[in-house]
Amino acid sequence: MRQIRLKAYGKLNLGLDVIGRRENGYHDLAMVMQTVKLYDTITLRILDEFPSEDGIRLTCSVPELPVDESNIVYKAIRLMRKEYGIKEGIKGEIIKHIPMAAGMAGGSADAACTLIAMNYLFRLGADREKLCDLGVKLGADVPFCVMRGTMLCEGIGEKLTHITPPPHCHILIAKPSFGVSTKDVYEAVDSLKTPYHPDIRALCKALDKGDIKEIAKYCGNTLERVTVEKHSEIEKIEAVMRDGGAVLSMMTGSGPTVFGLFEDRMTARKVGKMLRSGRAGIQIEQVALTEFYQPKGR
Ligand code: ATP
Repeated sequence: MRQIRLKAYGKLNLGLDVIGRRENGYHDLAMVMQTVKLYDTITLRILDEFPSEDGIRLTCSVPELPVDESNIVYKAIRLMRKEYGIKEGIKGEIIKHIPMAAGMAGGSADAACTLIAMNYLFRLGADREKLCDLGVKLGADVPFCVMRGTMLCEGIGEKLTHITPPPHCHILIAKPSFGVSTKDVYEAVDSLKTPYHPDIRALCKALDKGDIKEIAKYCGNTLERVTVEKHSEIEKIEAVMRDGGAVLSMMTGSGPTVFGLFEDRMTARKVGKMLRSGRAGIQIEQVALTEFYQPKGR
């Protein structure tokens, strides 16, 4: 095998609680993370020539994204080459569909997918635990993106426990036309006097019962208030989704992407169309209709 192409799936947070801040600036979190079917594509090819000092050449469908060593896919290839003493040159191709700087872990998903692809391409025999151990060096969300599905993520996001998946839903995703810096949002959350803490344990219990309306009651995100303070568009999108029939609408991660859960596909499509048309008076960069993703066998 000289080439492999895999899908890198994005995520949503059904719950995100910031529990505290560590000395090193990282935050202790309790999150319910869910993989969705919106994906980037990562292709890796073994080259005959040796392209650069690192032996890595990268291309990307989005011109704004650097293809040098600051790209997380580049870092993931370099990490695997070093860990396993790989000598061959490698070409990586990234096709982006997951909105960027949006709270959907697009970069982490690409990194996780690259680790998995390198493992297949060079028949390295690493199990998922080993890939998670490597992944956390690249980012706190990478281990989740290696495992995928529905998980309770604790610590800085790297301590993973499988939990009951939510029932099938139609998910409308709307990314407003501005990005946010995850770092800035986490810094600002420390200065909140009375931060909102969603009840993550209760959310896990509600997932066990499987009633989407009950689940929706316990979904929530500590970071939402920080991002909303700067960007009121988020609340407006949530209101449009709710008024349009969403069982739940909320922000994912550090934002600004908002998602809505709908029981009926046509209703979700209608709201998506409205948001895309600009009739709601909010500038939206990307609207997508998707579903939850569960890895096979789970
Ligand atoms: P999270 O939900 O984990 O906070 P995010 O969705 O907010 O992630 P990403 O899309 O993962 O943010 O990207 C964050 C930054 O990482 C981008 O602004 C970009 O400069 C950089 N980056 C490096 N490599 C990639 C990549 N392959 N895909 C997306 N972003 C990348």
